[in-house]
Amino acid sequence: MASSIVSFSGLKSINSVRLPFSARTKVVKPLLSLLLRTAPIASMSYEKELTAAKTAASVAARLCQKVQAALLQSDVQSKSDKSPVTVADYGSQALVSFVLERELQSESFSLVAEEDSGDLRKETGQEMLERITKLVNKTLSSDETYNVSPLSAEDVVKAIDSGKSEGGPLGRHWVLDPIDGTKGFLRGDQYAIALALLDEGKVVLGVLACPNLPLASIGSHDQHSSQNQVGCLFYAKVGCGTYMESLDGSSPIKVNVSAIDNPAEASFFESFEAAHSLHDLSGSIAKKLGVQAPPVRIDSQAKYGALSRGDGAIYLRFPHKGYREKIWDHAAGSIVVTGSSHEEDDWRGMK
Ligand code: AMP
Ligand code: MG
Repeated sequence: MASSIVSFSGLKSINSVRLPFSARTKVVKPLLSLLLRTAPIASMSYEKELTAAKTAASVAARLCQKVQAALLQSDVQSKSDKSPVTVADYGSQALVSFVLERELQSESFSLVAEEDSGDLRKETGQEMLERITKLVNKTLSSDETYNVSPLSAEDVVKAIDSGKSEGGPLGRHWVLDPIDGTKGFLRGDQYAIALALLDEGKVVLGVLACPNLPLASIGSHDQHSSQNQVGCLFYAKVGCGTYMESLDGSSPIKVNVSAIDNPAEASFFESFEAAHSLHDLSGSIAKKLGVQAPPVRIDSQAKYGALSRGDGAIYLRFPHKGYREKIWDHAAGSIVVTGSSHEEDDWRGMK
């Protein structure tokens, strides 16, 4: 089994990132280069939390779909790190936070999320805040489940800032990337709403809403399949496998990673963005492994979803020197992909 390249401490940044295997390593089934540590806390059910997480991610996905469909140039803002942030990022975070708090009514709610309202509180952010508030309310009112009075701009800002928790190795912490793959989102390509729950520093459940991912395998050429239908919701709970349903609410199906053990028959996923992963390095590793297929480049943790149902067999990710991975970029995806693995053991061989 391939070794882990990322370990979670429950803190915002991931400290240890290393190559999953040397190019000489014999690859054994399944061909997962990213096998991340998930929790052995099987005694807890987390049923209520999973239901809340699925609802939260689905509601947020609806908001994102609306925005992507009508994407305007003015929806793009610049953060200090120059990455594009859209009204949908903030709106998605506000909705996930609002829905989780409402569904779970927990006194010790903790959410580690990517956005904060700093820019929105400025004079220059007022117009955008108004637009986000309208979008959030429109999305909530179009959902029969939420018969709530409209949220004010201040409610929205508070919901966004619920995501300011620093996390940590103790207790429970939700981890959210409100739009993972913002660049894909802006391009009209793949993106995901990625939500996970950590308990005592371990990932115990994860949900990935992938509004643009086809329900059929992205490696499938079956003309009779529902190839054109898009919008997947993947979810996994510790010890319970991984399931996929359509974002429109079809019956869930249990998914499994690819059983291919011959690299010559395998295809591999990597970031669409060359700035996020060293394409040259993954190309040369794939070549040494004997992979024949060209890389499949997709944005966001939709890669983990596609991997969990066997669309591809390998995921290679090598960030440029100096980049520190964030837990919200892998927490949900890690349990979705390990939950669908044929191997129940974690990377240390422990249950
Ligand atoms: P991907 O779509 O696989 O390229 O991953 C998208 C995510 O990568 C974004 O949501 C960011 O959180 C994260 N990211 C941003 N900048 C970098 C970078 N320089 N290297 C690696 N990942 C990054
Ligand atoms: Mg991200």
